[in-house]
Amino acid sequence: MEQILEAIQAGASSDDIANLPIPESYRASFVKRDEAAMFEGVDSWDKDPRASLHVDQVATPELAPDEVYIAVMASSINFNTVWTSIFEPLPTFGFLDRMARDGEYGARHSRDEHIVGSDASGVVLKVGAAVRNWKPGDEVTVHCNYVDDQDPSAHDDSMLAANQKIWGFETNFGALADLSVVKANQLMPKPTHLTWEEAAVNGLCSATSYRMLVSDNGARMKQGDSVLIWGATGGIGGYAVQYVLNGGGRPIGVVSSPERAELLNKMGCEAVIDRKAAGYQFWSDEYTQDESEWRRFGKDIRAVNGGEDVDIVFEHPGRSTMGASIFAVKRGGTVVTCAATSGYMVEFDNRHFWMKLKKLLSSHFANYAESWAANKLLDQGRIQPLLTDVYDLDHVGDAALAVHHNEAEGKLGVLCLAPAEGLGVSDPEKRERIGEDKITMFRGV
Ligand code: NAP
Repeated sequence: MEQILEAIQAGASSDDIANLPIPESYRASFVKRDEAAMFEGVDSWDKDPRASLHVDQVATPELAPDEVYIAVMASSINFNTVWTSIFEPLPTFGFLDRMARDGEYGARHSRDEHIVGSDASGVVLKVGAAVRNWKPGDEVTVHCNYVDDQDPSAHDDSMLAANQKIWGFETNFGALADLSVVKANQLMPKPTHLTWEEAAVNGLCSATSYRMLVSDNGARMKQGDSVLIWGATGGIGGYAVQYVLNGGGRPIGVVSSPERAELLNKMGCEAVIDRKAAGYQFWSDEYTQDESEWRRFGKDIRAVNGGEDVDIVFEHPGRSTMGASIFAVKRGGTVVTCAATSGYMVEFDNRHFWMKLKKLLSSHFANYAESWAANKLLDQGRIQPLLTDVYDLDHVGDAALAVHHNEAEGKLGVLCLAPAEGLGVSDPEKRERIGEDKITMFRGV
């Protein structure tokens, strides 16, 4: 991998990069099949990714004709890596074993180690025989929607494909590594004004928020819509705030500290609710929700939203908030959800839902076109990366723990092959035009 890094840093030509040998093994972070029961009986909160995420050499898989090898310069932590590393709700080896049913290339994924990670910036090293639009040396970012395009259900909206998977979560050979194997239809051009680590953190979260709010497949936010955003300085929430502002809407951000509230104001989100200061108790015990707390929450929203209920709720905490979200959205409004961090068995009062003709919409990552559109907005400097901090690959467990324990704002980047921060900007003038202060707003918060 050293030879590869040297060539990339020296700006080697496409032909030179194409001629570099692909190493037989590479450094990667992974969980092990024989450790999948290691946290049995441990509370979710106390399951420590530092114990389950290993960083070591792994064997390089063969390349399928529609795939490319990329040198991963940087990656990022997503919540799915937390789920994999604490083996919740299920160990991910079942996904990998099921891939073995998809023939020779699928079978490569079923290993005793699962290499994790669903975001990357990097350089194409070698392309499979069927790849047309990309060549060695191309600087890319990668989206994580993995589909078999020979299945008819993958055409129209590929997120509806029967075989749709998330790369590095439901497939092997993920991004938290020096090398990765991805399908050519996961590649997108790297935004030229961003460093490797800034370019690596957006793919999964930004495109998820784009589909939830902007796309025809999502809530179809309009100019002037007000959108309540849970976890508004978190990974998907921080991009959601930007999409709402960018689309002429009004974000109402919910966070859990004065520092996060301040950060939201800095982003241009004036309406903020500090859920911790407000002390909402939506659940009075394990089985009972308290409607008076929903009402108090609704009143607090109206107080910062010109006296009105919100048009859209951007929902992902799940069990702890879904009842309140359904209650608080306006008559005819939409709750769009993509997750259930606090629990997936959600409960809401159906009377408030049907009598007020509300809508509940499910969403999951994004198709190639949506990911491409989100990447383009980043490239144009209309959406900014939410990078707060950077770890090296050997400390990937610390980074995953910080996300698991809700200690991180925005996104945590991970340097893989990139030897230092700050590298990879190929258009410094564009960076200056967009503004260092905007691009780095989340750094060090
Ligand atoms: P994150 O960076 O950790 O941010 C989540 C934020 O949600 C936290 O910062 C926290 O903000 C808030 N939060 C957490 N628990 C909460 C609770 N019980 N009540 C209210 N707010 C709560 O995570 P993320 O990357 O944004 O991901 C959020 C969820 O979406 C995860 O479950 C992830 O797996 C999922 N996700 C799904 C998709 C998909 O395609 N389906 C894509 C990306 C992410 P405050 O403490 O400041 O309120």
